[in-house]
Amino acid sequence: MATNRTFTMIKPDGVENGHIGGILSMITEAGFRIVSLKLTQLTTADAQAFYAVHSARPFYGELVEFMTRGPIVAAILEKENAVEDFRTLIGSTNPADAAEGTIRKKYAKSVGENAVHGSDSDENAAIESAFHFAGREQF
Ligand code: ADP
Repeated sequence: MATNRTFTMIKPDGVENGHIGGILSMITEAGFRIVSLKLTQLTTADAQAFYAVHSARPFYGELVEFMTRGPIVAAILEKENAVEDFRTLIGSTNPADAAEGTIRKKYAKSVGENAVHGSDSDENAAIESAFHFAGREQF
């Protein structure tokens, strides 16, 4: 059953480059309600666990290093059809392939440092949200 919620991170490159405000504006202008929001930093163990599905991929070490190098913004977002609509809003993993009007088209620099994360299923949205936010932090 669709929960109408998804989980996102503004990745370290997006934070470093001063795009927190711009990205959050695109998110709220697209009709998402912010349920939870915080600035935090992943430990190596956090990033390894978060991206465990990619542990056999050649870019895994680079990805963990990147995701831990500075603060991220973590957020839970709500909207009808949240997971799918947010994946559309962020655009393709590689910004070179991302459509006009997407967050990655505007703010991402490369396939690795691509500014934002968006959950790929309702199940993962729930797991990733619980990883970052206690129930009392979800509004
Ligand atoms: P998405 O974030 O679009 O769901 P994936 O789940 O395939 O993409 O990959 C997770 C993250 O791993 C990407 O957002 C990106 O930061 C990184 N990544 C994916 N493919 C590559 C690659 N070929 N080289 C470096 N990093 C990559």
